[in-house]
Amino acid sequence: MKTFNIPKEVTRVTGELEKAGFEAFLVGGCVRDLVLGRVPKDWDVTTNAVPEEIIALFSKTFYENTFGTVGVVNEECEDESLKVVEVTPYRIEGNYTDNRHPDNVVFSQKLEDDLKRRDFTMNSLAYSVSRETITDLYDGEKDIKDKVIRTVGNPVDRFTEDGLRMLRAIRLSAELSFEIEPETEKAIFENTDLLKNISLERIRDEFTKVIMSDRPMDGLLAMKKLGVMKYVVPELEGTYGVEQNRAHSYDVWEHLIRSVQHSADKKYPLEVRLSALFHDISKPESRRWGKEQDTWTFYGHEVLGARTTRKILTNLRYPTKTIEKTVTLVRWHMFFSDTEQITLSAVRRMIVNVGRENIWDLMDMRICDRIGTGRPKEDPYRLRKYHAMIDEALRDPISVAMLKIDGKRLMDVTHVTPGPKIGFTLHALLEEVLDDPTKNALEYLENRAKELILLPENELQSLGEQGKMTKEEADEEEIKKIRGKHWVK
Ligand code: ATP
Ligand code: MG
Repeated sequence: MKTFNIPKEVTRVTGELEKAGFEAFLVGGCVRDLVLGRVPKDWDVTTNAVPEEIIALFSKTFYENTFGTVGVVNEECEDESLKVVEVTPYRIEGNYTDNRHPDNVVFSQKLEDDLKRRDFTMNSLAYSVSRETITDLYDGEKDIKDKVIRTVGNPVDRFTEDGLRMLRAIRLSAELSFEIEPETEKAIFENTDLLKNISLERIRDEFTKVIMSDRPMDGLLAMKKLGVMKYVVPELEGTYGVEQNRAHSYDVWEHLIRSVQHSADKKYPLEVRLSALFHDISKPESRRWGKEQDTWTFYGHEVLGARTTRKILTNLRYPTKTIEKTVTLVRWHMFFSDTEQITLSAVRRMIVNVGRENIWDLMDMRICDRIGTGRPKEDPYRLRKYHAMIDEALRDPISVAMLKIDGKRLMDVTHVTPGPKIGFTLHALLEEVLDDPTKNALEYLENRAKELILLPENELQSLGEQGKMTKEEADEEEIKKIRGKHWVK
């Protein structure tokens, strides 16, 4: 008997199937995660019912014909991982003539058939919710306890059926901190060319999961050690063992995997992680011996690196948004890295280059770069100073542009034709708003404009110019506030 905490959205599905006289088991990654005490990412149910029988039992389902999986929809549910519970009939897989898709899929009445086709022993457990028992035909529980990844049956045969399983083994080892069992590992090492037949989309999905895991460095080291890198990101092979200059304790490869590991430690998003991994990818091509410097130089590696990064991500079929953001971060990663004195105008130019939406990600990526170099954390004052400068550069300047009313609207409500009076009125309004920001509301500004416009022009003008003075003071006040917030002068 094994009692787990299983959400009602899931027990409802197994309960309905059993009430109708069918068998139903939780299976695959969710049982593995329950045994490990982790929260499952998704819930899979396997049954001897066929798709039509499953569909008939639930009010809302969807069905994609390929593998017989029926998605049972829990409409009310907030939790993403429970919105759809996938129910799949017991399956026997046919031959794999192309090393990637079974030629045909046959439904079965026997649970054993379904467990036999699963990739790893840890993924071959079935759990009966009603009986609270685990069916474990391949000693999966022991392997989970020992933290071992082992194929169900002969590893070479299983990888020949579907080469992606090799990459799944590496990905799951990075996600779970498990070791790949020696025979399984040897079979990967000797059969990596089976990955040639696997679609780049499937490879990308596993690669992304390695990068998004808590231990991307381990996953990447395993990819290097077992020789699968050639089929995932061949460009990274060029960085192995490439020595750098004195500022670096590590070769380019080790620097990159340490950088991406720090991005995972910080739980940064995918694009920051990818740029941490690729930012120096073109250092090998850019490396020149600097006679004057008496060491290696890498001029322009960020420009080549951005190009190579685009090629890698495009080849792996990443979405355009991911590609653009990652390439941008690689392209501009040298900013802030070698300059001691950074001026505000340089920061402004940088923000134009990387885009306002990317500037903080660039700062995060820079931290990964630094830690990946083996250098200690940045001097906190200097870091805060950079942050203050960015805030200052991002700030909207104090000007009539910040008013909720513009010249056109002003002319519409006052029926005044274009001329100096319009500008004077806007400046007069700005002064009032600076005194009291709650006045920056369209209705107030319209009414007030109608009054102001009746004043003689020279009076209006002096009100506007008085505004200019206040504007400069207000600007200074704003900058002081920003610096104060970051504790810098
Ligand atoms: P995750 O935590 O990422 O969901 P998972 O092990 O559940 O990991 P899924 O892709 O959700 O992975 O697959 C669910 C189950 O289906 C696996 O646990 C495994 O039993 C089986 N499976 C998935 N892919 C394969 C494959 N290529 N070959 C054999 N069995 C597979
Ligand atoms: Mg799963």
